[in-house]
Amino acid sequence: MQPAATNELHDASSTATLDPDEVEGAVADATMPAPPAVREPIDWLRIWPFLLLQALCGLVVWVGWSPVAVIVCIALYVVRMFGITAFYHRYFSHRTFRAGRIVQFAGAALAASAVQRGPLWWAAHHRKHHRHSDTALDAHSPHAHGFLWSHIGWIAARKNHPTDLSQVPDFAVFPELRWLDRFDLLVPFALLGALLGLGAALEQWAPELGTSALQMGVWGFCISTTLLFHATASINSLAHLIGRRVWPTKDKSKNSFVLAVLTLGEGWHNNHHWCPGTVRQGFRWWEIDISFYVLRVMSWVGLVSDLRPMPARALANSRRVG
Ligand SMILES: [Zn+2]
Ligand SMILES: [Zn+2]
Repeated sequence: MQPAATNELHDASSTATLDPDEVEGAVADATMPAPPAVREPIDWLRIWPFLLLQALCGLVVWVGWSPVAVIVCIALYVVRMFGITAFYHRYFSHRTFRAGRIVQFAGAALAASAVQRGPLWWAAHHRKHHRHSDTALDAHSPHAHGFLWSHIGWIAARKNHPTDLSQVPDFAVFPELRWLDRFDLLVPFALLGALLGLGAALEQWAPELGTSALQMGVWGFCISTTLLFHATASINSLAHLIGRRVWPTKDKSKNSFVLAVLTLGEGWHNNHHWCPGTVRQGFRWWEIDISFYVLRVMSWVGLVSDLRPMPARALANSRRVG
């Protein structure tokens, strides 16, 4: 894609009615009185395919492995993690940079391939998380609801299944995003079909690689997607439980180097809750933030623009608590 073609579209999110600072400032609401935590009923009908996807990882015992299948697994993990962290999180949830309508849709489709529902659903829940972090109103607080619920239980709750468009009025105006949100399984199924086709083609035309359609499906889709899910979910669960607190946020978010490496920068979660309006989550040079580095390169070639810088308080030593 040529940069010139995207420049004129760089205002795809300019119709926004929600100021990102509103999301940032809403952290203060975390102290509001909240009702006691109540666990919602599980919607087993909707969640069983997702559980089956994870169970199918066990087929690896039968299909075996090959270098090409493992490489595809890792590559799809990294690329789709970037889609989740850069677009679902830093763009759709926090609007920390601008993108044209084509890049906006491409980023949404990439992230949708991670089987974490659609962009509007993801962003709507995440904005609520920042408003009510670690209170009973936070759908996935390990402190309010327990580890297992914060990690995976909450997405299976019937109450959390609909997309609350009132949380994302700025992006709900785009019909292509609402379509992607409505048919959120289309992209994952397309990816699975492509992987099965790739595996079959390699088995036919390059048998020396030792792969097959099923092997590519198990490694490229089931294992890669399961690892991707648990790494992403660990930011909801573990990143509010273990790690180091550096900033005096009203929630219990923590910084973790290990989680930051696994999630391309999201592990600096205490940093993020301190300044959710900046595109960066690693504030110091040694706080590795791969998604930010990639977004910066994308801004150099004109694919995205207006990366929101860190406010002064992001580096104010006087405010540090750790
Ligand atoms: Zn959080
Ligand atoms: Zn966030």
